[in-house]
Amino acid sequence: MSRLLLRQLPSRALFHARPVPSVRTYASTSPISQFTWEDPLASKNLLTEEELAISETAERYCQEQLQPRVLQAYRDEHYDPKILEEMGELGLLGATIDGYGCAGVSTVAGALITRAVERVDSGYRSSMSVQSSLAMGAIHDFGSPELKEKYLPEMAKGKLIGAFGLTEPNHGSDPGSMEAVAREHPQKEGYYLLTGSKTWITNSPIADVLVVWAKLQATGKIRGFLVNRKQCPAGTLETPAIKNKTGLRASITGMIHLEDCPVPKENMFPEVEGLKGPFACLNSARYGIALGVMGALEDCIDRARTYSLERKQFKGNPLAKYQLIQKKLADAATDAAYGTLAAIQVGRLKDQGKATPEMISMIKRQNCDRALHNSRVLQEIFGGNAVSDEYMIGRHVANLYVTQTYEGQSDIHSLILGRAITGVQAFV
Ligand SMILES: Cc1cc2nc3c(=O)[nH]c(=O)nc-3n(C[C@H](O)[C@H](O)[C@H](O)COP(=O)(O)OP(=O)(O)OC[C@H]3O[C@@H](n4cnc5c(N)ncnc54)[C@H](O)[C@@H]3O)c2cc1C
Repeated sequence: MSRLLLRQLPSRALFHARPVPSVRTYASTSPISQFTWEDPLASKNLLTEEELAISETAERYCQEQLQPRVLQAYRDEHYDPKILEEMGELGLLGATIDGYGCAGVSTVAGALITRAVERVDSGYRSSMSVQSSLAMGAIHDFGSPELKEKYLPEMAKGKLIGAFGLTEPNHGSDPGSMEAVAREHPQKEGYYLLTGSKTWITNSPIADVLVVWAKLQATGKIRGFLVNRKQCPAGTLETPAIKNKTGLRASITGMIHLEDCPVPKENMFPEVEGLKGPFACLNSARYGIALGVMGALEDCIDRARTYSLERKQFKGNPLAKYQLIQKKLADAATDAAYGTLAAIQVGRLKDQGKATPEMISMIKRQNCDRALHNSRVLQEIFGGNAVSDEYMIGRHVANLYVTQTYEGQSDIHSLILGRAITGVQAFV
């Protein structure tokens, strides 16, 4: 167990925070004799004591420290980079990485952290996932020993912020057609010059370290480059923010423009070539999303249930008394419970080296689709009040549209699954 994760958290006044249930009730040794609507299929029984403790620490931090800030952050479309430092202090960043100041926890434990963060907001989770799975994950899996030593410890503390640039303005679902290019520096030996544009890049406006995927001009093959903002001469790197988003407003998203940006050759990932580099990183991030979105859905269920018990219509009856309302809650709770079990199963297989990308496509697609569908249906329970951001559900619905879209839009994951089922490629 990481010592960092057991640190005491300072208490702070709560604002719309959920109470953090004691995990003791669910410890794997205690028998489950009662149906619990928060965890209908007793998924906690499948977790180790360490995973339960990590989950509880993450939930407490998120409810006590993030929940009070999220409403204003979302309204202002503001992301406070200090959040990553706070997460770093608790050992929540790059948590599945062994060494380099990271906690080295199980895949499931890492995803329980994403679920805790996403219970508050998918934007906060996105910023953390990009830092942990995409930027740190890429450096850890593909960087040279020197790059790992240089960047991972500071990124684990949240002192250096990472971004991951794959998507381009003209190439989203089809990153193999990317136009970004790296060519030998004509004058400076030991350097490449990077040119190209990436768009919809989480964290890019505030990132110190940008993992950028580009085609090496000499071979035409995709390679990964670590761009250190401090090393870029003026005018060679720009990362403007994309403002006025309709979702993920509590995270910061931007572009990456590279214009003959000199990058030392030692900053190119030495071994990995082609799309398997970015796809390997995306696999880990997609896994985190699959359990993460269950957190957002569970928050919607919790809020809709509470609202339906308190709101009275027709002869003073609570909405919860009506069958149509109960069906909505039953459908959502079932999907959340099934999605959680599936994600735990795939996480266990991942740690045994037995998870395939198709399994991750399946749970990413299914959980994102069901979270989006159910959150939209649960929103109806709030009637007109759902339109007020103070009821929180509209924010989840808007965010969940993005989770269904990024890191492989759901239909693209259908094509991945369809190819695996039929053996026939339907992408082109
Ligand atoms: C807030 C936000 C944050 C993001 N963060 C990052 C990040 O940090 N790093 C990064 O690299 N990217 C990031 N992205 C980009 C994201 O991954 C892309 O938006 C996503 O991959 C989809 O690409 P696209 O938007 O270009 O859509 P398109 O590829 O243009 O697809 C549009 C629609 O067409 C469908 N479609 C496309 N091709 C086919 C086909 N062959 N058959 C059937 N349907 C098809 C898609 O499923 C989709 O519904 C982010 C996006 C958002 C919105």
